[in-house]
Amino acid sequence: MDSEKAASVYPGALRLITFHVEQVNEVVAGSLPIRWSSTSEERPMLIKKIVQESADVKSFYLQPLPQDKRPLWNFHAGQHLPIRLLTEDGAEVRRTYSLSGAPSGDGYYRISVKRHNLGLASRILHDEMSVGDVLEISRPSGDFFLPEAKTPGSSSEYSNCIDQERLETKSDQLVLLSSGIGITPLLSMLHAATSTEPGTSRNYKRIVWLHGARDGKHHPFQDEVQQVKTASTIVPVETHIRYSQPTEADDAQYDSIGRIDSALILSKLRTEDDVRNAHYYLCGPSSFMSEMEDNLNQLGVDPERIHFESF
Ligand SMILES: Cc1cc2nc3c(=O)[nH]c(=O)nc-3n(C[C@H](O)[C@H](O)[C@H](O)COP(=O)(O)OP(=O)(O)OC[C@H]3O[C@@H](n4cnc5c(N)ncnc54)[C@H](O)[C@@H]3O)c2cc1C
Repeated sequence: MDSEKAASVYPGALRLITFHVEQVNEVVAGSLPIRWSSTSEERPMLIKKIVQESADVKSFYLQPLPQDKRPLWNFHAGQHLPIRLLTEDGAEVRRTYSLSGAPSGDGYYRISVKRHNLGLASRILHDEMSVGDVLEISRPSGDFFLPEAKTPGSSSEYSNCIDQERLETKSDQLVLLSSGIGITPLLSMLHAATSTEPGTSRNYKRIVWLHGARDGKHHPFQDEVQQVKTASTIVPVETHIRYSQPTEADDAQYDSIGRIDSALILSKLRTEDDVRNAHYYLCGPSSFMSEMEDNLNQLGVDPERIHFESF
């Protein structure tokens, strides 16, 4: 049911979805989230560096153990890393975190984790893990990625998951829409789409990134995005930062106040044709995704051009 009808039944509802249950499976305690795919292939990783990126986000730089001489598994910008942690009493916790660095990273994976006050894994990572600790990972996975943002030599490994229909061309605009910690996979995409490394993605005529955050304290990677933007020689990058609750300390860190909406998207993409012909990559909480989907629908964007990941 669309938003208008849904709101008439449940005030404030954006969408009403009806499910027909075909099968009920018992959920084993601690088995979240569903995108953690269990493969027999795991690999211990050493935490090499931890960086506080904002009030509640820390980045963890992960490297193979010294005795593990294999190269890192390749990944596409936008994919996530399944990790396995142990609680104090030895119980296993499995979670997935988007890789936030460039796919051509210098021999490490970077994940960036928001601390949830009552969250199990994010509190272990933030409060208990230190440089030199080890956690288990599985191969990077997920189908939310830039189609040609692949590392050199990765084609055979990924040939089965690259959707050839999704090859995007140099005449298209890439639009990144994110909110909060949804910044992580899009940051990796920004690195990939502006990379000058041979064999990496250089498809777009322009990149527009609209990001929403509460305020400056909850807005990680400000400097990194600025640096990538300034250094990009192959594609112009335009960003627009919208804070919902800026503070006096936030002076020059944001461009406007409120939430990302269709008027902002239209103003940044300039013409309705440009809006319809762009490729959209969205990441954020489910309420944000739902709002963005409505905005893009209103603007007449073909759903085929909208790719999203919800945390
Ligand atoms: C594909 C994918 C990519 C992701 N990438 C990222 C990323 O890059 N960065 C990132 O930070 N996260 C990411 N996530 C989310 C991440 O996997 C975890 O879900 C997140 O870190 C929360 O895990 P947790 O164990 O800390 O919280 P959980 O213990 O799983 O709790 C989930 C939520 O419930 C709340 N909660 C728990 N117990 C209670 C209670 N008793 N009362 C009220 N509330 C409660 C917690 O505060 C938390 O907000 C991603 C998820 C997916 C699926």
